[in-house]
Amino acid sequence: MRHIAIVGSGPAGYYTAEAAQKLWGADVEIDIFDMLPVPYGLIRFGVAPDHQSIKGVTRRYEQTALADNVRFIGNVKVGSDVSVAELRDLYDAVVLATGAPRDRPLGLPGDHLGNVHGSAAFVGWYNGHPEFAALDPDLSGKTAVVIGMGNVALDVARILAKSREEFAGSDIVAHALDRLAESRIGRIVILGRRGPHQIMMTPKELGELGHLQRAVAHVDPADLPDEGDDALLEPGLRKSVALLRGFANNAKATRRDVPINVDFDFFASPRGLIGEGRVKAIAVERTRVEAGRAIGTGQFYEIPADLVISCIGYQTSPIAGVPFDERAGRFANDEGRILPGLYCVGWARRGPSGTIGTNRPDGFGVVEMIAADQGAPAEKPGGKGFDALAASRKLDVVTFADWKRIEEAEETRARDDAPREKFVAVDEMIRASGHGD
Ligand SMILES: Cc1cc2nc3c(=O)[nH]c(=O)nc-3n(C[C@H](O)[C@H](O)[C@H](O)COP(=O)(O)OP(=O)(O)OC[C@H]3O[C@@H](n4cnc5c(N)ncnc54)[C@H](O)[C@@H]3O)c2cc1C
Repeated sequence: MRHIAIVGSGPAGYYTAEAAQKLWGADVEIDIFDMLPVPYGLIRFGVAPDHQSIKGVTRRYEQTALADNVRFIGNVKVGSDVSVAELRDLYDAVVLATGAPRDRPLGLPGDHLGNVHGSAAFVGWYNGHPEFAALDPDLSGKTAVVIGMGNVALDVARILAKSREEFAGSDIVAHALDRLAESRIGRIVILGRRGPHQIMMTPKELGELGHLQRAVAHVDPADLPDEGDDALLEPGLRKSVALLRGFANNAKATRRDVPINVDFDFFASPRGLIGEGRVKAIAVERTRVEAGRAIGTGQFYEIPADLVISCIGYQTSPIAGVPFDERAGRFANDEGRILPGLYCVGWARRGPSGTIGTNRPDGFGVVEMIAADQGAPAEKPGGKGFDALAASRKLDVVTFADWKRIEEAEETRARDDAPREKFVAVDEMIRASGHGD
């Protein structure tokens, strides 16, 4: 029997398990660890609550999870409850699929000021991640500045702009829904160092900004490149730029007639956050783009800002004993190989890029690599060895059956128009799982 430990139950973790099942069939036993009592990583805590159809991918992961030779070992943090060295002793291969949960720091003067948040924290807040549920962002000011030109920036801007009714059918958590319903924000600035041709925003997400009940998106026509140049873009980006051109047609006169204006500010590099105790404004330098890079022009201005959310990327959390590439913000690895028997996959391998589906070839690739590196499995104790360790440490392991009870409880307590009301604290999740009854 081959024993595989996968650390992280997000897309990369489950695709790796699926690939191992396909390759080794009944000759493999797979344990999927997660530090939280609930599975699926960013599908639950990252993907926007109003994008329920995307979250449907978990049905595929559930098929993998329910197989006899796959276990979910929730509520166990690798690196503190159990070490990577211990897992390497117990399993033939250990695959780190821990994602990239930390915000890349802004690294600007004033980035410590109050009401300046990274997107991991802000998105975690509205999606009910236990670590960020208490974030309590102040939405009583007039202007929010969202830094970044990717889909996460669009998610954040859209969530800030939506009315309570527009969240019908979503699983946004109650504390965020209530806070957003009282929001006084009337202007959302999306700030990007480069121009419309350099955005990382996809047409679906950008298109949604054009269909909001109480918000209108604006682009300064002067920021748009010559229309003829759009022909050189790949088709997805061309569609996104066409949408921006549409926003440039939203007449200035409509600004006063709508509760919320969403302004794209291109060629604008944030240089510092201004305020005493809490943020009041953001200092920006105008840029021009040369060979794809933003170059400062020396022209500065300030944007009043009562709330700042930076959406500029993520980093993996280091784990004791695992070589880490500080510059890249992920485990030091060669195509997924870290040390003999130790691998990484998904965002923990390649950083925060690509879609959910990008993690599938990654998962299949790492399993092929394990097969190529290892001959017949060694006689390792596998899951039985872990169970003994967990019992000796009195770890409160949450199984997949426990998770299904948590899920059922979340569905039962959902408000009328929502698929679930998530528990946002680990102890609530544990109680709902039936532990401690
Ligand atoms: C805000 C946001 C919105 C997104 N929206 C979309 C979208 O609409 N469509 C799309 O295709 N993609 C979207 N993505 C990208 C998608 O979520 C990622 O591609 C995918 O989740 C990465 O998978 P992963 O398994 O590598 O990491 P993750 O999904 O982050 O999973 C990592 C897992 O590891 C666990 N873990 C971490 N450390 C430990 C530890 N030490 N011990 C045990 N467990 C640990 C975590 O709890 C987590 O469950 C979005 C991403 C973000 C941030």
